[in-house]
Formats: sequence, structure tokens, C-alpha cells
Amino acid sequence: MSEIRPAIPEAAKIPTSDYVIIGGTGDLSLRKIFPALFQRFLAGQIDDGFRLVVAARQKMSVAEYADKLRPFCHLDTAADQSSFAEFMQLVSIMPLDVVAGDGAEALAEFISAKQDDARPVIYYLAISPALFGAACQLLDKHGLVTPSARLVVEKPLGHDSASAGDLNDQLLAVFSEDNIYRIDHYLGKETVQNLMALRFANTIFETQWNNTFIDHVQITVAESVGLEGRAAYYDRYGAMRDMIQNHLMQLLCLVAMEPPAQFKANQVRDEKLRVLRALRPFDVSNLSDHLVIGQYGGGDDDPSYEEALGQSSKTETFVALKLFIENWRWAGVPFYMRTGKKLQHRASEIVITFKKPSHNVFANGATDHESEPNRLIIRLQPQEGLRLQLISKQPGPGGMRLFPSELNLSFDETFKERLPDAYERLLMDVARGNQTLFMRHDEVMAAWQFMDPIISAAADVAPDIYPSGSMGPEAQAKLFGAHQASWIDPISENEE
Ligand code: NAP
Repeated sequence: MSEIRPAIPEAAKIPTSDYVIIGGTGDLSLRKIFPALFQRFLAGQIDDGFRLVVAARQKMSVAEYADKLRPFCHLDTAADQSSFAEFMQLVSIMPLDVVAGDGAEALAEFISAKQDDARPVIYYLAISPALFGAACQLLDKHGLVTPSARLVVEKPLGHDSASAGDLNDQLLAVFSEDNIYRIDHYLGKETVQNLMALRFANTIFETQWNNTFIDHVQITVAESVGLEGRAAYYDRYGAMRDMIQNHLMQLLCLVAMEPPAQFKANQVRDEKLRVLRALRPFDVSNLSDHLVIGQYGGGDDDPSYEEALGQSSKTETFVALKLFIENWRWAGVPFYMRTGKKLQHRASEIVITFKKPSHNVFANGATDHESEPNRLIIRLQPQEGLRLQLISKQPGPGGMRLFPSELNLSFDETFKERLPDAYERLLMDVARGNQTLFMRHDEVMAAWQFMDPIISAAADVAPDIYPSGSMGPEAQAKLFGAHQASWIDPISENEE
């Protein structure tokens, strides 16, 4: 094996494991899972004792699979090419049909050859959720659900609370909750983990983190892409199910949760669950005060959602909503969240707007900046970082002239190292047996139970059409009502 790959610190070591990617030839595997495993191989976390299995119905050789995977692994140098060739030596292709059962015996033989309770065997279901039950049953039938077996699944985990419950019953019939890892890849992002460090390792923010000091919170997850080949799936789900129920709810939980006593999986997840359970139910008879839905209408050379889909549809590609968390910390503080496709640019930000000073001693200042509040902006992607907006005195003569300034912590500049993709972190955590950044079943259910009535009430509302390349329908402004605030658009990469 390569001499180029670095030795890794003791704390980063993970046990030698088998990763079995069921659906390993699909889009998720090629774009995300295997490139992440390759990066961890380059970093030295995966060594030559690991076995990586691509399991799917289609038969192909390792060389053919390497040809499919290569474009997603950014092999810029000869050294990268040679590392990739070494990485591919860990890969086995095992034809498997989880419905018919073909190939399961060979897989069982392969896995049992190295079976050992200290060697995690990770089954990642990169297949349609409609096949999750069959896949679990098949693994069980062939004796593959051993004490060291772990199951990884990811969205969509149901399309409402009833179907999410059914799906979960199918997983729990075979795997215990302690061995189920439900990925929400937002939780694996470095900046999202940093949000917890920011809150719970620094006193300056945590003492201000409540309704006495915070005016409101905004969470924006803007995508610039449209359907990207996922039309059939997306049109059945829409932005509320595809983004709000999972990613944005999880971000909301991390912003709003109480500090756990310890940074341990179930303690963190208990606190997130409390946030979800404290959400004020929507008044669905007054939906438009709390919810705006939209659909992109296209642009000059850009097809509209319906044109891209090839049929008429009421599915929302944009959602903005206003939420309240009914507990002592957050009573009265609005949380505004929005997400959409074909927006101006791809950018995700959490903006904490603090209250203005209770008395303005600069009332006769030469500028009106004295009335601007402090803001903490947590930039999740791209160009991860934190910005704290402050009001300062403009240097030089001319009286007390105030202007807005920023303390800027760019992760790129501060840490000067490549930030790992979320899947890299999460895949290593599964081998480590650390469930902190994965969703527990009751969290998934609580998020669905909150969203179910909103989704069914919104089914009767026609989405506002917005131009592609904008920041969504103008009607989103009305969510602020009498509250003196407005949406803060994330700045684009080029502006930074
Ligand atoms: P995909 O490209 O359609 O791939 C599906 C995979 O499942 C293929 O490898 C397919 O290979 C395999 N498969 C289908 N039927 C099978 C069977 N009976 N037995 C064994 N393997 C079977 O789908 P995807 O986009 O990768 O998505 C996979 C799952 O991840 C879906 O649930 C999706 O919603 C979820 N997801 C995907 C993304 C993404 O970015 N793509 C993001 C989040 C979540 P064969 O046809 O050769 O069997």
C-alpha cells in the first residue's frame, strides 16, 4: 500500500470494517458514498484491511466500476491516480437482488469469512426506501444481522408520519435502534458541528442565546439547481417533504436546543426532540400568515418547473415559513425558514439577529447605522464560516459617525485545510458506533407529526410562481407581518 498516505492521529482511528453498499452502482453511491470513502482512504482512516462491497443487480467488473467512479473522485495528479488504483483494490462487486434474493448466499459467504464482533459490517441501503424492508429481511435470512452489523439509511424516510412509522417498523423488525444510522447529511457538515461548538464551548453567545437578547432567527437553504434528473421523485415530495421536514428542522433543532449535559448521542438527540415537541402547531385556518409556497417559473432560456417536468403540477419548489418554539428560552421569538430550487445562487445560512440596544445614545449620529442590530451569520455552504456584524465608529474626524463592520471567521482562511464532505464524517462515525450526528426514530416522527397538518393544508394552495434566478416569491415578505424585519439574502460566492 501507498507510502504517500499519512499516519492518522489515534483519535481519528476507526476499527477495520466492511462497508456493503447495497445500490452501490446508483447515483448516491457514485457521487457521494464512494468519493467520501476514497477521501478517507487518502487520509489514512481506511487501510488495506477494509473491504468495500458494491452490491446491486447489474453485473460489472471492478475495472468497469472504477471507470464509472473515477470522474467523481477528482483525480488531479498522478499520485491521485495511483491512490485511486490502490483504493479500488479494496472494492468487490457482488451482484445482489434484494427482492429475488439472488446473490445473498455469496454475500453471506464473503462477509462471514472475516466475521468478528470487533469488525463492524455496515450495510448502507442506497436503494429506494420501497426496498428497505426486503433488504433487511434478506440480510436477516442469511445470518448477516450479527452483533457487529449496522444499517445506514437516508431520506426519504416516509412521506408522512404514517408511512415513516411503517418504514421504521420494517427496519426495527431486523435491526435494533442502536444499530440504525439515519443520515441527514446536513448534520455532518463541519459548520453545523461548529454551531454546537460555538454555542456550548463559548460563554459569550450562550448567555445571549434566548428571547431576552435575540430578536429572530432566519434559516435559508437556497439551491440554484432545478430538478436534476429527480423529477418523478421530487414531484411526489416537494420542498416541504424533501427539505423542511429533515434538513431545515434539524438545523432549527441545533440552533434552539438546550445544552446537553454531555456531548453524547442520546443526550444530544433528547434535546433536539424537545425542540420539535415544543413547536407551536400551525393554525391551518390562517395558513398564509405562516407559510408561503412557490414554484419556479423559468427564465429566458430556462424551462419552468412544469416544462422541466413535462406536465402541470402544484408541487412546491419553494417554501418559507414562520415558526415559534413554545418554551422559556424562545417564547415570542420568530424562526423564519425558507428553501427553494432555482434560486439566485446556492447558499445556506443561519442568521441570528440580536435585539437593538434598549437606549440609543447616538441618536444624533451622522448616519442611520446606529439603528442596525448585531447579527451572527453562520454560513453553512459554500465558503463555510462565521460572521459577526457589529456597529463601529468610522475612524477619523467628523464626530461619532457609525458604520457596520464585520468580524469574519472564514474556515478556509483560518484552518487552511480542506473541509471534509459531510458523508466522510458520517461514514466514519458509523464504523466508530457514534450516533450523535444521526437522527433517532422519535425525532423523525416528531418532525413529521409537526409537518403533516401543514402539508395537507398546503395541498389546497396553488404555489406562487417565481422567476428562476430570483430569491423566490415576493409574497414571502408578508411572513414578517408587523415585525420590523426582512429576509436577509445570503451573499453569493463572488461577492465574498
Ligand atoms: P439510483 O441512482 O436509482 O440507484 C439505485 C440503486 O439501487 C442502483 O444501484 C440499483 O442498481 C439498485 N437497485 C435497484 N433495485 C435493486 C434490487 N432489487 N436489489 C439490489 N439493488 C437494487 O438511486 P440513488 O439516487 O442512488 O438513490 C438511492 C437512495 O438514496 C434513494 O432512496 C434516494 O431517495 C436516496 N437519496 C439519494 C440522493 C442522491 O443524491 N442521489 C440523496 C439523498 C437520498 P441495479 O438496478 O443494478 O440493481
